Amino acid sequence: MSSMSPPAVSNFIRSIIDADLAGGKHGGIVTRFPPEPNGYLHVGHAKSICLNFGLAQDYRGKCNLRFDDTNPEKESEEYALSIQDDVRWLGFQWDGEVRWASDYFEQLYQFAVELIHKGLAYVDDLTPEQMREYRGTLTQSGRNSPYRERSAAENLDLFARMRAGEFADGSRVLRARIDMSSGNINMRDPAIYRIRRAHHIRTGDAWCIYPMYDYTHCISDALEGITHSLCTLEFEDHRPLYDWVLDNITIPCHPRQYEFSRLELHYTITSKRKLLQLVNDGHVSGWDDPRMPTIIGMRRRGYTPDGIREFARRIGISKSENTVDMAVLESAIREDLEAKVPRVMAVVRPLKVVVTNFVEGRTESREAGFHPQHPEFGARIVPFGREIWIEAEDFSENPPDGWQRLTVGGEVRLRYSYVLRCDGVIKDAAGKLVELRCSIDPDTLGKNPAGRKVKGVIHWLSCAHAMPAEIRLYDRLFTVPEPDADKDVDFSTYLNPDSLTVVQGWVEACVKDAVPETRYQFERLGYFCADRRDHQPGGRLVFNRTVTLKDSWAKEHG
Ligand code: ATP
Ligand code: MG
Repeated sequence: MSSMSPPAVSNFIRSIIDADLAGGKHGGIVTRFPPEPNGYLHVGHAKSICLNFGLAQDYRGKCNLRFDDTNPEKESEEYALSIQDDVRWLGFQWDGEVRWASDYFEQLYQFAVELIHKGLAYVDDLTPEQMREYRGTLTQSGRNSPYRERSAAENLDLFARMRAGEFADGSRVLRARIDMSSGNINMRDPAIYRIRRAHHIRTGDAWCIYPMYDYTHCISDALEGITHSLCTLEFEDHRPLYDWVLDNITIPCHPRQYEFSRLELHYTITSKRKLLQLVNDGHVSGWDDPRMPTIIGMRRRGYTPDGIREFARRIGISKSENTVDMAVLESAIREDLEAKVPRVMAVVRPLKVVVTNFVEGRTESREAGFHPQHPEFGARIVPFGREIWIEAEDFSENPPDGWQRLTVGGEVRLRYSYVLRCDGVIKDAAGKLVELRCSIDPDTLGKNPAGRKVKGVIHWLSCAHAMPAEIRLYDRLFTVPEPDADKDVDFSTYLNPDSLTVVQGWVEACVKDAVPETRYQFERLGYFCADRRDHQPGGRLVFNRTVTLKDSWAKEHG
C-alpha cells in the first residue's frame, strides 16, 4: 500500500508477531486467507482479508490465497473466480499461485496412513446416527465405538478400499483416535475422511473420499509454511485438534492458530448461506445486488477499496464482540469519496421551473469547478436557460418555520447561478403541482443581492441540456439491526420494502460519457456510481446511490 496509508492500529495479533520476530522465532511472517469457494465474499471476509494481507504487507511477509475446497457439492469455479477478483479489487495480491487444499489431497491421504500406522486413526462403520449417540453431550462423556480397536493392518486395508470406491457414500469414515471422554467434543475422535461420490471442481472424479476441514486446514497451513494462522473465534475449540494433528504426523512446520472475533454488521447479515437464500428467493437481483453486503455488491454500489480498508482499520481486531453499526462503514466510504470524486449536479425528483424573465432559446454558460478543494479536477460548463429542473423537495407551498429553500414569494440561490424568486405555481386539473413560474434577479451572478440576504442554495439543471438518467436510490436491506437474531423468525421477515427506489431523473451532460463505476458526488444528494452492469457511456445512463451525504438513518428511523 502507498506510504499515504494511515498507520496500522495495533492489536493482540501484532503484539504476538512483534514478539515472535523480536525473539527470533520467525525470520518473517506468512499468513493466508482460506475461503471456501461456496459463495461470494462478504464484508466479514473483507475484515479477514485486510487482516491477513495487511499484516503481510506491513511486516514484509507473504500471504497466500488458499481455497478450502473440501466440500465438492457446494463449490464452483464461478465462486473461486469471484473470490480472486474480490481480493485483487480490495487492493491485495497473494503470494505466488493460488493454492488449493485439493493440491494436497495425496499428501493428506499419506498423513492419514501415517496416523493409522501409529494407531491414531481408525475406520468406523457406525451409522451417522449411532456416531452422534456415541459422541455424548457437553455434560456427558462419549463412548468408544466398537470399531475403535481395529488393528492398524485392518484399518489400512479398509482405508485403501474406501479410497478405491468399494464402499457406499456415508457407510464408513476415518476417525482420529483421540479421546471419547474429552471435555472438548471436537477431540472425541473427530471424523477426518468421509466417502462422498461428488464431482470436484479441481480433481474431478479422482477421489471419492474427501478430508474434513479441521484435518485439512492445519496440514495445508503447515505445508505452506504459514507462521500465523488467523481465524475467527468459533474455531477456538478446534485449536486442540489443529495442534493434535500436527503433533502426530511427520511434518517440520507447526503454525500457530490465533482467533479473533468475527465482524457482525448491523442492518445486514454476514452468512454465506443466508446471502445465498436472499439470491435464490429473489429478494435481491443477485450476489452483486448493490444492497448485498458482498464485496461485489458493495463494489457495484460504489463503495471504494480504500474506504473498505479504512473501515477494517477502524473496527480493529480483538477477541471481544465486534458488532458494528452500518453507519461506521458508510462514514468510512463517505470520507474516502469526499476528497476523491468530482461534484456535479443531478435532479432525482424533478420539478420544472420556467424563468419568465429569461429570453426563450438563450443559453448562458458559466464555468464551475468539479471540486472546491481540488482545482486540479478541472471544470465544466454549466448552462442556464429559461427552463430548469429543480428538486421537488426544494419547493414548498406551505413551508415549515425556518425554511430556506423555495416558496411562493421567496428566493433561493441557484448553485453557480442567479438568485431565483418564485412568483407563482401552475397546477393540473387534479390540483397537482406541475410547474413553477419564477424570475431571476439579473444582478446576482457571482454576487449577493443588494439590500437582502438569500440563505438557501439549491441545485438545478437546464432542461435543454440535462441528460435523462435512471437513478437507483438504495437504502438498508433490513429494517432492524439484527435481522437474524431471532431463531424463530426468518430473517427475510425484516427485509426493508424501501431498500430500492428507482427514479427517472436528470444529470449534467458532462457525465454522459462516464464509464461504468465512475463515481460522483451529486451535490446535496449523495455519492453515486455509474452502474457496472447497466450503465452505457453515451447511452443509457444508470447511477446507483452509494451513500447519502449525511447519516440520515438514525434521524428518520430512530
Ligand atoms: P460463512 O459463515 O459466511 O459461510 P465462512 O467462515 O464459512 O463464512 P470461509 O470461506 O470459510 O467462510 O471464510 C474464509 C475466512 O474468512 C475464514 O478465515 C473466516 O474465519 C473468515 N470470515 C468469515 N466470516 C467472517 C466474519 N464475519 N468476520 C471476520 N472474518 C470472517
Ligand atoms: Mg468456513
